[in-house]
Amino acid sequence: MSNGKLFDIDPVPVTETCRHCEHRQRHQCGGSIIQYCGARKSNRTYNGLLKIKVTDQACPLFKKKVK
Ligand code: SF4
Repeated sequence: MSNGKLFDIDPVPVTETCRHCEHRQRHQCGGSIIQYCGARKSNRTYNGLLKIKVTDQACPLFKKKVK
């Protein structure tokens, strides 16, 4: 470690949520929409992606969606 920091991750503002993240994916399942994260994996879902809610607080992988 050169500068005493363990990881070089920019802090995400606490006001950000998964709603405005570029990694958020919407999957239609019957009549409902299920949200997944394209950047974080899970062993508990059929497609290997982490299931999220749009109101979840943003994680360090957050990337602001540009329109
Ligand atoms: S979990 Fe992190 S990377 Fe995934 S959609 Fe939410 S903020 Fe983005």
